[in-house]
This record gives sequence, structure tokens and C-alpha cells, in this order.
Amino acid sequence: MRRIFALLLVLAMLCLSGCGKPVTAQGFAMDTVVSLTLYGASEADAENVLALCEAYEALFSRTQADSDLSRLAAGEAFAPSAHTLRLVALARHWAEVTDGAFDPALGAVTELWDFTSGAGTVPPETEIHAALAQSGWENIALSDTAITLAPGAKLDLGGIAKGYIADRMGEALREEGIESGLVNLGGDVLCIGEKPDGSGFAIGIQDPFGDTGEPILILHVRDAAVVTSGNYQRYFEQDGVRYHHILNPETGYPVQSGLASVTVITASAADADAIATACMVLGLEQGMALVESLEGVWAVFITESQDIFYSAETQARFS
Ligand code: AMP
Ligand code: MG
Repeated sequence: MRRIFALLLVLAMLCLSGCGKPVTAQGFAMDTVVSLTLYGASEADAENVLALCEAYEALFSRTQADSDLSRLAAGEAFAPSAHTLRLVALARHWAEVTDGAFDPALGAVTELWDFTSGAGTVPPETEIHAALAQSGWENIALSDTAITLAPGAKLDLGGIAKGYIADRMGEALREEGIESGLVNLGGDVLCIGEKPDGSGFAIGIQDPFGDTGEPILILHVRDAAVVTSGNYQRYFEQDGVRYHHILNPETGYPVQSGLASVTVITASAADADAIATACMVLGLEQGMALVESLEGVWAVFITESQDIFYSAETQARFS
């Protein structure tokens, strides 16, 4: 009898730390809603990890004047933080792998467009061409301690920074011993472990053509990041034409690759983030070829014609 009691007590304690209701917390950083759903964690754990967002935003922001990125853009001589060096190195890596489809040095062009206020207009063609001439990832020179940009070149890490921050938040949570939960930075989702009942986390992929934010499909994911790039996420309309925020580094205009969204699943949210943006630029055929060439990377492509394409094994693994 005593043994049964002891067993029940252990089970009850396990439940308290794991199978009960998750702790949730929300914040706002990198211009998006950040939310945490954590099992076996305290509210203080959630708040501490949420606070990390602000610290990283202070480094990578393009709008905060004293961020590492703003100081680089101003041509200031200073020692960037280890995180900035690491993120820029990773961004440059993906630029190289994607042959420049992912271009973290497109800042001179992206700052001409305003996709966030909702009041954006198409910049003059001459300005786009001039900015394009100063863009391109080859303009980033890196050493172990310094980042050097060619004159006029500017970084825009908007296509990878959220993923990088999600990865660091995930690491911090694991260091606190939290082994189950979700980190969500405006749709860049990192799944930590699995749900306490042993099932995968159900991650919805938004319907690019719906206006209610309803999922078009659901993936079941353990221990991996799920990141979506979509042409519906930020845009403005002018003269009946929709201009969205993912730019073709060859033209400086919103890319028209026939894709509405690309969702990438892989271990690291930063990798997934960069690959998803690159795939939007590359289009279905080349994007699929990229994903298939990378180990441990899966993807779902949704075309403008509303067809869904999965990379090999994606459906079997995650549906
Ligand atoms: P994402 O939502 O991850 O696809 O990132 C889109 C953001 O990345 C944009 O809002 C820009 O800040 C930036 N961006 C736009 N086009 C590119 C590109 N071709 N390569 C890298 N970053 C880009
Ligand atoms: Mg991205």
C-alpha cells in the first residue's frame, strides 16, 4: 500500500512539473509579438527568457540608434558584440549557400521601402538602382572581431534575426532545465522537446489566401524550428498592385517567384529563417532543390496558384 502511495506521489509531482497547464507569456520585440508556452517552468522563467528579446533587439535593431547595426551603418569604428559577429557570419554563410538569394546586405534597398507603417509607396526607380549598386552580401567583410562594410552598404538582418533570437531563447530555456515548450517570434516557432504527453507540438501553417489567420495545414513537430516566410506578412498596395517585403536582390523590387509562402523545418530557427526567405526568392523549383540538398531540412511550399508542395519525407514525418 505504501509503495502505491509513493508511486502516486511521484506521479503527482511529475505532473505538477510537466503535464499541468503550461506557463504562457507575451512580449513585443523586433516589430512582432513574442510568445512563450512552457511546460514545467515558472512564470519567472518565462519572464527572464522574454527579457532576452530586448537585449538582442538592442544589438540587431535598424531603428535603435545605438544598436550594433546602426553603428555599423554609420561607419563607426567599434567592437561589435559576439552575437552580432555570429549572426552576421551565419547570414553571410546562407548568402553564399543560396548564391545571394538570401542577401543580408540589402539594407540600402530595403530602407527605401516601407512595409511596416502601412503607408508605404513605391520608391523612385533611380533610387532603387542606386541603392542596389551598393548592396550585395560580398560587401560584408568579416574577421573574428570586426565587421567591415563596403562604402554605402547596409545590413538588414530582418530575414534571419528573429530565428537567431528564438534559438538563443531556446538555449536559455534548456539551460534552466526546461525541456518542453514553444518559443514563437511572430510566426518563427521553435519547438523545445515534445508535449508532456509525448506527442509533437501542433504547428499551424497560415493560409496565405485567408484573411482570418486560419491554418491551411498543421504539422506535428518535436525539437525543431518551423519558420514561414510569406508575401502576405508585410505589404502595401499601390494602384491595385500589392508590394510585399521580400525583395529580389537582383532587381530591388518585391520578388515574384510564384510562391505565396515557404515553411522550413529544421533544428535551428536561424537556419530555417534564412532558408525560408531564400526559397521565396528562388521559387519552387530552385527552392525545392536547395532544401533537398540540405541535410535535416524539410519544407512546405505554397504557390500563388494555391498548390501545396512538400519536400521529400515532409508529409510522412510531420503530418
Ligand atoms: P522573412 O520574413 O524572414 O522572410 O524576412 C523578410 C525580411 O528580410 C524583410 O522584411 C527584410 O527586412 C529582409 N529581406 C527582404 N528581402 C530579403 C532578401 N532577399 N534576403 C535577405 N533578407 C531580405
Ligand atoms: Mg527569414
